[in-house]
Amino acid sequence: MRITPSHGTGAGTAGALRLPSVGLLDARDRPLRDLRISVTDRCNFRCVYCMPRAVFGRDYAFLDRDELLSFDEIEHLSRIAVDHGVRKLRLTGGEPLLRRGIEELISRLSALRTPDGDRVEIALTTNGSALAVKAQALKDAGLDRLTVSVDTLDDELFQRMNDVRFPVSRVLEGIGAARAAGIGPIKINMVVKRGLNDGEIEAMAARFKDTPYTLRFIEYMDVGTSNGWELDEVVSAAEIVERIGALFPLEPVGARATGETAKRWRYADGSGEIGIISSVTNTFCGTCNRARISTEGRLFTCLFATEGHDLRALLRGGASDHELSAAMAGIWAARDDRYSEIRADLTPELRAARQRIEMSYIGG
Ligand code: SAM
Ligand code: SF4
Ligand code: SF4
Repeated sequence: MRITPSHGTGAGTAGALRLPSVGLLDARDRPLRDLRISVTDRCNFRCVYCMPRAVFGRDYAFLDRDELLSFDEIEHLSRIAVDHGVRKLRLTGGEPLLRRGIEELISRLSALRTPDGDRVEIALTTNGSALAVKAQALKDAGLDRLTVSVDTLDDELFQRMNDVRFPVSRVLEGIGAARAAGIGPIKINMVVKRGLNDGEIEAMAARFKDTPYTLRFIEYMDVGTSNGWELDEVVSAAEIVERIGALFPLEPVGARATGETAKRWRYADGSGEIGIISSVTNTFCGTCNRARISTEGRLFTCLFATEGHDLRALLRGGASDHELSAAMAGIWAARDDRYSEIRADLTPELRAARQRIEMSYIGG
């Protein structure tokens, strides 16, 4: 296992043992910086590209409550991950605001400190349906960053895409409530699927231009197997930039930090910027510093991994902090994932044969 120099030993949190800190590097020299934690596999939406009703219907077997990681377990694993170099914790799902007491989890995570005594950034990705009610409590609990998914402003299309007839106005109201509560920065994520909502690119850009919100376009990905992904449904980053640029001239902006997923573009007239996450046409595996913990405590080192490492079994089997820490370090050290870079070399048959996990299980 290769390690970068120690940051020293940090002060304890919540009376727990702190281990000497190390910065891990994986087999491709990538550090571990960003941990995404799925707090529920359930969702009140049935987005057609993520949890299509035909698969996630009435009979779908979601996890039982005792299968989910508890808040104690999530806090425990997060503390160890922070000791290993994680600087951002993102809560996701399913729909994370459906997890009862999510504010308590946020407040516990925001009390974690890096070995240097710094706060860790706490972020959340949500469909926004419960934001109007929860925004203030999330802010009070210590939420730093928020990403809200909005795939169109056209209410009829929005309701068709979430497939539960949820109106877009209530999501926009939730975004306003989050801003009023002082949560920021707030980003808006739009997944673009050709033939479904690609006609909305320009309207979304116009709506969020010159606002406090940064709009990010996400290329539709072949996550999981439920959505029946086809390459020709992907609208490329280049096309998105060209279409928006034809209306509002854009200039590229350099990356702020390594591992940044979105390529940034600024409006030439100074009215803000957009981001494009081009996981299909312009991959960024080379700097990928993200790990994911599924709802039931499996650690995945890639969004497209076929298998996770069962940390819940270790936690519930009474593993010591040292053992958990060593397990996490060993998993990261062995990490060699770069699925998006090799996607183009896979035949449709080979891709179909890979048992990829669902986005709603592992989180975005
Ligand atoms: N329910 C929350 C939400 O929708 O924001 C959090 C979980 S959701 C799985 C996280 C993000 O993944 C959302 O922005 C969603 O649009 C995105 N997503 C889901 N399926 C996707 C796909 N096939 N390709 C690209 N993004 C996807
Ligand atoms: Fe739910 Fe988010 Fe997936 Fe839509 S994208 S079905 S809101 S988890
Ligand atoms: Fe990271 Fe895997 Fe996505 Fe590449 S494909 S950027 S390694 S999560």
